[in-house]
Parts: sequence; structure tokens; C-alpha cells
Amino acid sequence: MKTKKILLDESDIPKQWYNVVADMPNPPAPPLGPDGKPIGPDALTAIFPNALIEQEVSAERWIEIPEEVRRIYGMWRPSPLYRARGLEAALGTPARIYYKYEGVSPAGSHKPNTSVPQAYYNREEGIRRISTETGAGQWGCAMALAGQLFGIDVRVYMVKVSYQQKPFRRSMIETWGAEVLASPTDQTNSGRKILAEDPDCTGSLGLAISEAVEEAASRDDTNYALGSVLNHVLLHQTVIGLEAKAQFEKVGDYPDAIFAACGGGSNFGGVAFPFFADKAAGKEVRLVAVEPSSCPTLTRGHYAYDFGDTAGLTPLLQMYTLGHDFIPPGIHAGGLRYHGDSALVSQLVHEGLVEAVAVPQLGTFEAGVTFARSEGIIPAPESSHAIRATIDAALECKRTGEAKTLFFNLSGHGHFDMAAYDDYFAGKLHDYAYPQEEIDAALARLPKV
Ligand SMILES: *Cc1c(COP(=O)(O)O)cnc(C)c1O
Repeated sequence: MKTKKILLDESDIPKQWYNVVADMPNPPAPPLGPDGKPIGPDALTAIFPNALIEQEVSAERWIEIPEEVRRIYGMWRPSPLYRARGLEAALGTPARIYYKYEGVSPAGSHKPNTSVPQAYYNREEGIRRISTETGAGQWGCAMALAGQLFGIDVRVYMVKVSYQQKPFRRSMIETWGAEVLASPTDQTNSGRKILAEDPDCTGSLGLAISEAVEEAASRDDTNYALGSVLNHVLLHQTVIGLEAKAQFEKVGDYPDAIFAACGGGSNFGGVAFPFFADKAAGKEVRLVAVEPSSCPTLTRGHYAYDFGDTAGLTPLLQMYTLGHDFIPPGIHAGGLRYHGDSALVSQLVHEGLVEAVAVPQLGTFEAGVTFARSEGIIPAPESSHAIRATIDAALECKRTGEAKTLFFNLSGHGHFDMAAYDDYFAGKLHDYAYPQEEIDAALARLPKV
């Protein structure tokens, strides 16, 4: 029988995370404080536990995964690697297509891979309360779940437009025992300031981050947690790529190209970084981050120091950015609407070691539907970006007759995104390229360092 799923045993859950910093040709650009000088780790102790700060600045190649975290990972890990035989047949491509499926986690995406260790380290250091933000609701769900598992109270600032449009993500967050507020709120200075200027403001991820950071910084009992972008978040997500390598080994194959949707970079880094280790050692493998044309951070943004949030409360990170005051267009891939990107992913793109492509909304939904009809699983709109890029590569193989091995991460299922599919079927979605004038104008508003 031809294998469909390539499975590992629970005892194969990785024992260590992989830190890409150890194999990068240049050290990461340091985060800067408001004075333009590199910040020390102690600048972060008000909002993060020490263990995570250590991971944030670590250059060690391997970092041990605590046993308790591995036990919880066992609820959904190791995740399956599938051979996409249905999709291959539908496309008539000679390429071999594989995908790893992270939708098997309780929250339905890859995000619990990091919310669980983040909650664990906070509990270890006596923290009983966490504030965080969520865009489309995926991260809020993952953090609520992890908070519940470790006895930590979680407050989620949810971007108002999603709060209104995604009531079931909100219900999930509440089911896992967390509190969820529509951001901007009147509970923080950052929120009140924006509401005074624009009472109807529907929020943005950058603004929700400002509210959550402000709350954590002003309360001794509360820490902050971020679902992507930071080095320790990408580190935790490397369980995806590490398992995938073992799974490819099992079937005696290896990817020529790896595709992953990229918002803040944790999904991409999680699946691609363990393969970067091989690339750094001389192996040929393309690593491709896929983003929406409507939020083209890596492909058209400025590579510069910028804030991670709207109010300018976070340290400055050197990254690709559309400007910290970016107001995202209302596209249906809420998890990919962040103005910046991981500093590690940005640096590797800047140095030409990682590729980035942008794909339009309609082609993305078309790819998601093709996938659902040939493989069964209904993908999250975010994940469909990777599917679009993979299908394009598979069709290129069809033209050239090459039997390449293509691999993408199916970062989540789309069961709570069916309203977006409805809009697509009703012809209500449009392609939208972010205007060049906006990108040029953002340059002038970047902090001067
Ligand atoms: C959040 C999310 C992404 C994007 O992840 P980043 O780490 O921010 O790049 C992709 N897919 C799904 C399903 C998500 O929930």
C-alpha cells in the first residue's frame, strides 16, 4: 500500500528545540532601547520570565524541552506528515508533495507549540496572570488553553474587528477560562488615547500589543506573552521541522523546497529552521516564506529598526516593516496582518538565505479550495498562502517535467473561517495590493536610530 500518513511515536517528540542562531552566518542584530542603545536582558524582566529571556538571547544550538511540556505536547504531537497524493493527482504534476498538519492541536493551529512552554516557564517563576493580544483569535485560543493547563489567568486583548466578526473564536477563549476584551479598550492609556482620537477605531494587532504590554508592565503579578515574532517563539515552534526531518527520513525523501505562511514568522521559522541547519552545512534546500500581497512585509517592506507595537512601548527590532502605525486592509487571513516580522527571518531574507514571495487573496482561496477538494482538510486562509505557493511550484514541475519534492506546513484548519469561504464563493473577495505610496510614507515615520 502506498503510504498516506507518515507517523512518529509519542516517544519521538523532540527532546530539544533547535536554535537557528547557532548556524546563522552573522549574529542577530540586537534589539535597541528608546535611547538607541542595545538593551540588556534585564529590560525585559518586567514582562517576561527569566527562562524565556535567556532563550531570547541564546546562541546555544540545542535547548532542552522540559518533560512536563513534552507530556502536554503528547496531546497532539507528533503531528502527522501527509503525502498529498490527492493534490498531486488533481494537478497532474510529477512533483511529490508533502504537508505537515498542525491543525490537530486542540486550538486547531501550530500556536499551542509555544503557548504551552510560555505558560510553563511563567508558572515556574511564580506568575499567575498573563496578558496577551490576538488578531484573528488563533493565538488567544492557544494562550487560553495553555493558561488553563498551568493554572494561569489569561486576559486577551482581541482586535475589535475580529471580536465582532469571529464570535466563535471568542467563545473558545472563554471556554478555556480566559477573559477577552475588544481592543481598543478604555482599560489602558494606549487604548484610551486611540479612542479619544477615533471612537470607532476597529483596532489592529500593533495596538492590541500596546494594550497587553502596558498592562503587564504596570502590574507586578502579570507577565506578557507574544504568539510570534520573538526568537523564543520561533525556537519553540521548531518541533514542527524537527519532527518533519525524522518523518522524511522514514520514507527516504528530502524536500527541494519548503513553503510556509508567514505573518510574524513563527510558523515559517518552526518548519524551516531545522532544515536551515542542513542548508548551512551545504545541502541544497529552498526555504520560502509566503505572505499576502495586501500585507507584503518581507517582499516590499523596509529593512529597518521599528517598534513591535503601535504605541512604541516595545524595544526596537531590526526587521522588515510596513511601519508600526500600519492599519491593515481587511483581508481574510487575519493571522498574517502584522506590520513587522521576526528579526531572525528578516535577517535571513536580507542576507539572501531565505526567500519570500507574496500571493494575492483570490488565488490563495482558490488554492485552499483545490486542496480541500483533493485532500479533504479545509485549510485556514493563512495556511492557504503556503498551498498557493506550493501549487505554483508543482505546476512549474509539470511544465518542466521535474519530479521535485515539495513540502509545506499546513499550519491550521479553517473550521472557524467559513464566513471567509462564504465570501469567496459569493464573489465578495478582491485582490488588493498594498499601495506603494503607503509604503513610501511609512519610511518617514520610522523611529530614527
Ligand atoms: C498565526 C497563524 C499563522 C501565522 O503564523 P506566524 O507565526 O505569525 O507567521 C499561520 N497559520 C495559522 C493557522 C495561524 O493561526
